[in-house]
Amino acid sequence: MGSGEGALFLDLAGPGEDEQVLRDQAHRVAVEVLRPAAWALDRMTPAERIAPGSPFFTAMATLKSLGYHRFFLPAEAGGPEEPLSALAQSVVLEELGWGSLGLATAFLVDMLPVITMARFGSPELLAELVVPWVEDQTGAFHGCWAITEPDHGSDFLGLRDGDAPAYGRAQLVAEPADGGWLLRGQKSAWVSSGPIATHAAVHAQAGREGDLFHSLFAVVPLDDPGVRRGPPADMLGVRDDPQGELFFDGVFVPERNVLVPPGPLYPAFGDQLLCLTSSVISNVAVGVARAAFEEALHHARRRVQGGAPIARHKNIQLTLYGMFERVETARSYTRAALAHTQANLPGASPDVLGASPRHARAAQVYAKRVAYEVAHDALQVFGAQGLSRDSLIEKLFRDARSLLIEDGTLEVLALDAARDLIQNYEHVTYDLEEMMATW
Ligand SMILES: Cc1cc2nc3c(=O)[nH]c(=O)nc-3n(C[C@H](O)[C@H](O)[C@H](O)COP(=O)(O)OP(=O)(O)OC[C@H]3O[C@@H](n4cnc5c(N)ncnc54)[C@H](O)[C@@H]3O)c2cc1C
Repeated sequence: MGSGEGALFLDLAGPGEDEQVLRDQAHRVAVEVLRPAAWALDRMTPAERIAPGSPFFTAMATLKSLGYHRFFLPAEAGGPEEPLSALAQSVVLEELGWGSLGLATAFLVDMLPVITMARFGSPELLAELVVPWVEDQTGAFHGCWAITEPDHGSDFLGLRDGDAPAYGRAQLVAEPADGGWLLRGQKSAWVSSGPIATHAAVHAQAGREGDLFHSLFAVVPLDDPGVRRGPPADMLGVRDDPQGELFFDGVFVPERNVLVPPGPLYPAFGDQLLCLTSSVISNVAVGVARAAFEEALHHARRRVQGGAPIARHKNIQLTLYGMFERVETARSYTRAALAHTQANLPGASPDVLGASPRHARAAQVYAKRVAYEVAHDALQVFGAQGLSRDSLIEKLFRDARSLLIEDGTLEVLALDAARDLIQNYEHVTYDLEEMMATW
């Protein structure tokens, strides 16, 4: 494709024929299902959003009926026979983000318990929980990822220097019990899909005497006795994915539901899981950025001021160019980061070293920042219309703002990347004098 209408990707870095088909299908889903559902949800009260018949459930059921939830699983756990390439995954994630950040987030957290069960679960757990989830075409199952706690948000990203700091006692504690563990405590009000999820992937401090960073990781059915939910939160952005607290009043978790046994959260498990989530969410963020850019471009071509479409004014041209440049560079880097993560996660092949936290975090920080900056610039291109609750850009701006906090704040993600590069970045040092002497 040349520079004509519709050339969304550079041929060099863009998708091949298979990815193009996937992209077209995912884009249709985003246009016909995700955008309208997200728009309707954004205008509802928190209670309406989670009531039976809410567009949230229709959107999730559509993604399931099309099999999107299987795309990210290995074949042996019910994924496609021919695993989706990292590029194809990127293409799909970008379209989901373009359609709705909230529904894309809901889709991703739904997969988290299952992806981790597929990797770490016993054959019994696979049969009991993964198989029905894979076969579900109606949205009967929905996962969430319960990490943060009222007093431990950024703390859970484990900003650490050498050994993990303790940060005191976690607010969700797993006490040993006969044949398993008893969960007591709570998770924060920000757990995505918490109010409607059927299963949670839960981090809990192991033992009363432990600390935040010595946890177990388990999957918990949320209809178990002792589970309670807080009310759905009323947030500025990402309103299309309900968020809410989860309380555990002595919930029994059998040993076989424990996917990662008690131990230090970092570096082995936590770093690698966060590499996956960082590189995935970064591709979604590119979709948010592209959505804002395309809205602004469309508006600038049509809105006439000063006797001409505003796209003819130089300041708008430079703004549009700057947005385009950022979307394109973010796409390139986030695709590379996802491909690197997928190829290097432990278990991906016998000799992999592990995914790179600094690269995954850089992808996440960069793409989130780009999404926010592009949404900000797009709103400016819209003038007052951009501030109106009737314009999509107003919603995109609120969503992009939330991205700077969702799944780790920009600052904390960047500090974590800095820790990794200061500790682990390898480079050759030269003695200048020696070098010049032999020159
Ligand atoms: C849309 C959305 C979806 C979410 N989904 C989930 C979910 O599915 N599951 C879940 O468990 N949680 C979820 N969260 C919670 C999210 O992970 C936390 O909000 C985030 O990690 C920040 O924690 P906090 O809000 O408690 O802020 P705090 O940790 O209180 O941070 C407040 C400020 O202090 C800074 N700060 C904090 N600690 C440090 C430090 N050590 N060094 C330097 N600066 C620091 C931060 O950068 C920030 O600016 C979600 C949040 C949002 C907004």
